[in-house]
Amino acid sequence: SKDTEGKLLDYLNNNLISPYINIIDDSYYKISNCKDIILRQFKVNTLIPIGLDGRDEIISSCGSLLLYILETEMQDLTNIKQLEIRNNKDYMILDKSTVRNLELLETIYEGKAKGSLIGVLNKTKTSMGERLLKRYIREPLINTDEIIKRQNAIESLINNNIAKKELNNQLKKIYDFQRLTSKIAKGRANARDLISLKQTLSALPEIKKILQPINSVLIKEIYKNLDNFDDLYELIHNSIVEEPPATIKEGNIINEGYSIELDYLKESIKSAKSWILNLESSEKERTGIKTLKVGYNKIFGYYIDVSKSQINNVPDEYIRKQTLVNNERYVTPELKEKESLVITAEAKINKLEYEIFQEIREKIIPYIIRLQKASKAVAEIDVLLSLSEVAIRNNYIKPIIDDSGIIDIKEGRHPSIEEILGDNIFVPNDTLISLDDKPPYDKSMLIITGPNMSGKSTYMRQTALIVLMAQIGSYVPASYARIGIVDRVFTRIGASDNLSYGQSTFFVEMSELANILRNATTKSLIILDEVGRGTSTFDGLSIAWAVADYLSTNEDAIRTMFATHYHELTLLESQNKKVKNLSVAVSDDGKDVVFLHKIVEGPANKSYGIHVAKIAGVPSKIRISAEKKLKELEKSSLSIGINNNMGQIKFFDEIDDATSNNDKLIDALYDVEIDNITPIDALNKLNELKQMI
Ligand code: ATP
Repeated sequence: SKDTEGKLLDYLNNNLISPYINIIDDSYYKISNCKDIILRQFKVNTLIPIGLDGRDEIISSCGSLLLYILETEMQDLTNIKQLEIRNNKDYMILDKSTVRNLELLETIYEGKAKGSLIGVLNKTKTSMGERLLKRYIREPLINTDEIIKRQNAIESLINNNIAKKELNNQLKKIYDFQRLTSKIAKGRANARDLISLKQTLSALPEIKKILQPINSVLIKEIYKNLDNFDDLYELIHNSIVEEPPATIKEGNIINEGYSIELDYLKESIKSAKSWILNLESSEKERTGIKTLKVGYNKIFGYYIDVSKSQINNVPDEYIRKQTLVNNERYVTPELKEKESLVITAEAKINKLEYEIFQEIREKIIPYIIRLQKASKAVAEIDVLLSLSEVAIRNNYIKPIIDDSGIIDIKEGRHPSIEEILGDNIFVPNDTLISLDDKPPYDKSMLIITGPNMSGKSTYMRQTALIVLMAQIGSYVPASYARIGIVDRVFTRIGASDNLSYGQSTFFVEMSELANILRNATTKSLIILDEVGRGTSTFDGLSIAWAVADYLSTNEDAIRTMFATHYHELTLLESQNKKVKNLSVAVSDDGKDVVFLHKIVEGPANKSYGIHVAKIAGVPSKIRISAEKKLKELEKSSLSIGINNNMGQIKFFDEIDDATSNNDKLIDALYDVEIDNITPIDALNKLNELKQMI
């Protein structure tokens, strides 16, 4: 309806960057039309064998898509052979900002794979493997059995060094035959593509041999999908020359012995060709012209080239054809005769070779489904091998996967930062976050405070990455990990500025937050790196507080890690037993400040923002002024009260009145000499101070 259409357009405009929207006619979606086109495409009589019977929404989306592609491609879609119904319920949904924030496929700042998760995990040998790994990363699994199946396959490879080495060698020989197959199906493959396919096919039996004894359910499935293509190999081997040209209309692609007709034609011009080939030396000798040359160009055909200084020695039967600055070019009647023989026959040969080549391509079409299956199997083995290599090289462990609400990681590390740090040892940290009731598994909300650059983001990202890696089936950077399946990972990290698209930083932040709060379920994991920083302090703090409070309320609590510079949020711990404060340890002896990157229990007691400003090079004049202002603000900070009983923040309205009174109170406190006061005087002082409030 128009209404849905309007909503959809709004959605697309809001969620995509400058989308190109082309509204197509309703008839595209008509079930009967769609049904027809699907039946024709997949060459079936009913929808039952392809699993679409009665599934109108799939019929209409799939049929309309096929129709659209048919109309835009304007050719047969022979490469689309099978329909795979993928259910969102089988995979974790990762939205664009999470893929970006967690740097799954590329780094945020440089947009490079190096430094991202794929940069760490990708040791694949084929581009099919690389593409599949990307898909695995974008679509982690949520079914424990499926994950464990992948884990076990990786484990069996880890334990089999010989198989690993041999597979590596074979995979190196394999071309992207997923692409080759689709080129063949579309009739766009050239002879070189077929030779690449042949080379690939020769590696498949070897791979099968290596996989056969490996005891893993998944590897057995892969083994089954890896066909032998002996007959196809033979076909290409017999028909196509070993090093064909890139063009398919200019001959030199079909092997001798494959076609009698072609061989006959080639034979028929052999003597004429060799006559032309020998002409240069025979004419040199006959005429005594040492610089004489025989050449060929497309306009004049074959010619005899003689430099001007020698033209007196040219025989009478030479006919001048072309004059250049220093040379003359001639033909002879005999040369013309042989040339026409060769050219006519060669045109025939090239045409015939092209026809034979097309026939060979056609003969490969029936293999396409099997080839597609095999290419997927190769991609899978490539990915599993890559994950097993990375696990060994980086000292990863096999995580325990279950359906509990627990995420328990011991000595976790950030996969890419630990690689970047190299010899500078990465400080491992534990994470325990869980939906259970009994301690220590009763904390679902971790509030993390600590200075800038101390490692809060790294800690949260590493937790999310370990969860994702575990659900991909990969081993993980930790000494122990138990991962209770997560259905979605949500992240709200940093200020991703969308100003060029007309959205303010704060608006983007709030939109991301809204998406999380509306879509997260009790099985999700939420990573919040600062909430509410893009607006005034009270505004932002209130939003941050409300979000943290909402996500940690007892029923429907959601596993959340929340890093913040709003220290006020750490008060939540005393009100809600699901909340736990963590902070990053700092060594501060009054002179030197060192961030230890170690996560410890309890809230941070200082921010060190001015210290970070110093490291970053902010001029000392500004820093000194900031220190002064900080002291002033800290002194008056009691003007902001937090009413714990209400379970929410309350700000005093009359800050000015409170300020003067609080100043007096603070001064009185400063005057107390703790070392020289008796207990009884202390009690009296306390009473006096209380009176001042
Ligand atoms: P901000 O509050 O400014 O966002 P942050 O506390 O989130 O800062 P991170 O960005 O996580 O800090 O960390 C800053 C840098 O500290 C990292 O890029 C990394 O080089 C280093 N670092 C973080 N965690 C560790 C660790 N566990 N071991 C070693 N180095 C670390």
